[in-house]
Amino acid sequence: MTLKPLVKLAELNFTNRIINYSTTLFTKVQSTPLTNPVCLHVNCDLLNFLGIESSEKNKPSFTRFINGDLDFEGPTFVSSSYSGHQFGHYVPRLGDGRAIMLGEIQNQNGDFFELQLKGAGLTPFSRSGDGRAVVRSSVREYLASAHLKALGIPTTEALSLLYGSDDVYREEIEKAAIVLRVSESFLRFGHYQYLAHTDQLLELKALVDFTIDHYFAEFKDHPNRYILFFQSVVKNTAKLFAKWQAVGFCHGVLNTDNMSILGLTIDYGPFGFLDSLDQDHICNHSDHEGRYSFGNQPAIGLWNLEQLGEALKSLITDADLKRTLETYSTIFKVEYKRLLKNKLGFNKSVDSDDEFLQMTLNMLAMTQIDYTQFFRELSHYQINKKYSFASTPEVVNFFTQYEARLALEDSTSIERLTQMLCVNPKFILRNYIAQIAIENYEKSPEILDQIFKVLVSPYEEWPELNHWSFPAPDQYKFMTVSCSS
Ligand code: AMP
Ligand code: MG
Repeated sequence: MTLKPLVKLAELNFTNRIINYSTTLFTKVQSTPLTNPVCLHVNCDLLNFLGIESSEKNKPSFTRFINGDLDFEGPTFVSSSYSGHQFGHYVPRLGDGRAIMLGEIQNQNGDFFELQLKGAGLTPFSRSGDGRAVVRSSVREYLASAHLKALGIPTTEALSLLYGSDDVYREEIEKAAIVLRVSESFLRFGHYQYLAHTDQLLELKALVDFTIDHYFAEFKDHPNRYILFFQSVVKNTAKLFAKWQAVGFCHGVLNTDNMSILGLTIDYGPFGFLDSLDQDHICNHSDHEGRYSFGNQPAIGLWNLEQLGEALKSLITDADLKRTLETYSTIFKVEYKRLLKNKLGFNKSVDSDDEFLQMTLNMLAMTQIDYTQFFRELSHYQINKKYSFASTPEVVNFFTQYEARLALEDSTSIERLTQMLCVNPKFILRNYIAQIAIENYEKSPEILDQIFKVLVSPYEEWPELNHWSFPAPDQYKFMTVSCSS
């Protein structure tokens, strides 16, 4: 296949297929660009993947573009209505309070991607908000989305990070930023919930048809298309949650409006990566009850799918919804087990695998060994048979059983090591690392660049950047992250 050549920004062809389908969901809006905009970072690989010439990023017109200050024709600025369950309570009107969709562009392969500015000012859905995003949360979203992508976890992405001189009022005064987000689709469970709860059933059907035609095209002409669609959403969501659990990612705000219909990680807020395994870990300090604690995530995934199912009742029978929802926990368990076995270097299946995995998780929870470092070190263990963790009885027991279990594998140590180093990251986005990037964004932006580099290739060794693999230094140990962003 011959690829189309890379293009300049002004040559991009914008479409907005979804607007033609859904007449009530989208509203035209105007952006409010930031004052004195500075382009802090661009994801160059993503820029090229989208079919845009690298040199474009250095031009003033690029900075204007990612600031929502357009000097060429094409994009239609819109924001959408959605509702959703926030912390278990239904909120009938949420919507893109600070997100503006510019439309879709087609990359060199002919695939469509939506572009969305987050933080570009007020929209009709801003409610009491200011339509802005602060630098702090924007840096976190920018880094995290590129990082999850590199970890093989489905996610929306971010093309650029820009800040301005505008003040934003949160718990204290902060500076405003805009992230240009990229995704095949920004559709959320909340979009379907909104149309169902407002009784717009024809619109709902049109939206589901649109979703199937564009993102689940294999079911396009199938008589059971709606059931097959829901089955896929359940499957993708279960697999996404299993990937989060296996890497130790805690989303923080799993409201149904923060659930992507494509099973992508979306809306990064007070998320966090676990240091050590703790099922009760709550990364959002506003989540007093721990509804979205690390260990609750898989159950919340199902609860959220049940709410989506409820919204699809006019298209799918109760029995089919129920049957489909019942598949969630098996899909989740199979995927989680597969991922944990990969982390341990196991290719074979033996009867005692479940027990072994449980013993491993118990040991990690009891000893509070750093989760990421443990698996990374295990990926080197097979060569020198040494480990740096304190030899507690749990650790000694683990290694005795691990040796015995490895003896059942056919692969050589080298094969396993190679495989394990590709699934056990050396670098993860620990909160303190994001914090250092945030504290230095203006005076030392090269720190952000360095951090970006290790996070987008987290399985590489990067010996000269080794320090970014370390657990939090004392002064950052007990940082908490708030919902305000
Ligand atoms: P979130 O917790 O970020 O998922 O946001 C929940 C809802 O509040 C969504 O409808 C957001 O668009 C909206 N929202 C959050 N922050 C702001 C803000 N600063 N201005 C306007 N709307 C916001
Ligand atoms: Mg949200």
